[in-house]
Amino acid sequence: MISRFLPPNSLTELCRAALERDARSVRRFEEASAAKFGFPHGLFFPYGRAALHTLLRTLGWKDAEVVMPAYTCVVAAHAVVLSGNRVRFADSAADHFLVPPHELEAALSPATRMVVATPLFGYPIDRLGYRRAIRVRAPNAMVVYDLAHAFAVEDDEGPQAADADAAILGFGIGKQISTLYGGMLLLRDQALCDAVRELRNRTFRKPGMLRPAKLWAYGVAARCAFREPLLSAVDWLERKTPLLYGITEYYYGKGGPSLPVDACELPTPFQARLGLRQLADYDRRVDCRTTLARFYHAELSRYGFYCFGFHGRPTFSHFPLAVERREAVAATLRGDGIQVGKLIDYSCPQLPGYESTRGTCPNAAYFGARMLNLPNWPGLGVHDARRVVASLCRVRDRRPEWFRTSNEPAPSVAAA
Ligand SMILES: *Cc1c(COP(=O)(O)O)cnc(C)c1O
Repeated sequence: MISRFLPPNSLTELCRAALERDARSVRRFEEASAAKFGFPHGLFFPYGRAALHTLLRTLGWKDAEVVMPAYTCVVAAHAVVLSGNRVRFADSAADHFLVPPHELEAALSPATRMVVATPLFGYPIDRLGYRRAIRVRAPNAMVVYDLAHAFAVEDDEGPQAADADAAILGFGIGKQISTLYGGMLLLRDQALCDAVRELRNRTFRKPGMLRPAKLWAYGVAARCAFREPLLSAVDWLERKTPLLYGITEYYYGKGGPSLPVDACELPTPFQARLGLRQLADYDRRVDCRTTLARFYHAELSRYGFYCFGFHGRPTFSHFPLAVERREAVAATLRGDGIQVGKLIDYSCPQLPGYESTRGTCPNAAYFGARMLNLPNWPGLGVHDARRVVASLCRVRDRRPEWFRTSNEPAPSVAAA
């Protein structure tokens, strides 16, 4: 079976990073990440959400408005709410999952203190349009890029986060670079960086002695779970039993605003060493994902599937495909030995904790109910992607109504 993803850390890498000794590896990883992704400062956190949460706590705001996409990973919204501030969601476009400038502008107001710009799945946002909307509606807002899917994403002007005040990277096991759990806050301002570091070091617990060993075991187990001979068994367990539910759903935070119990525990030097190894291999990994994603885009467009447009240089953390009957398509592909992902299968306003915003973002709800992610992890080849395309074509020949065929906008009635 072609798995929907493979955790990035190889078994050799996990063992090497566990055996090495280097007291400065956290600092080295922070400096290397900042340098690689174009910021002067970096701070390593146990999760990406903890980075945003700690930034907001450092700023000391209360009840401030933070604008972010409705179609994004809900853990980013949780970080805002749990810091004592408010989220205002911006809708996706009618024909694209990204937030277009006019929807951003509609969500912004003079009360907006922070804008979270999210190039989801590594697809560049319309940076010029965002800049204009922010200048008109919320000129003093802090601009933070959520680069969890899009570390080094570029448009024609260069790196997208070049004019951002801050950025958040995600190093969870599903990201392009993984420290098993982890995230990085990238900052431009030295004084702000010092203040966030001080708050982090003062309020986060030191990891327990056994933490590196537990993380190592988790990394090994995850790597094995997404490869045969275990892959098919794990896939079955995940679908047919609640055994893995505790791990996956807990992590994704779909039960309401809360942080994982270890979100206030400093990451370990072992994780930093994993990160350093992964950083060194980052460009190759993005190239692999990009090659497969561009193949999907070209082939599926040619066969008349609806594909999302892009400009600049997307990093394609995933390849998104919106279909009308997600479960049916996924089940049929599984019959062909192909596992597809449903990475963000909701829009934030429909989740517990965000009831007051329900119905405000119909396009995001529309895509949240339809999105699949096709496998494009490094290690797959074009022959695998060709199998996926062929399987999709066969399904569509039999069941055209399961798919979106043209660039038609989301019917807004369907979203409510
Ligand atoms: C993964 C992710 C984050 C951060 O995730 P953590 O699990 O907190 O490390 C933030 N935003 C998006 C869009 C993500 O996918």
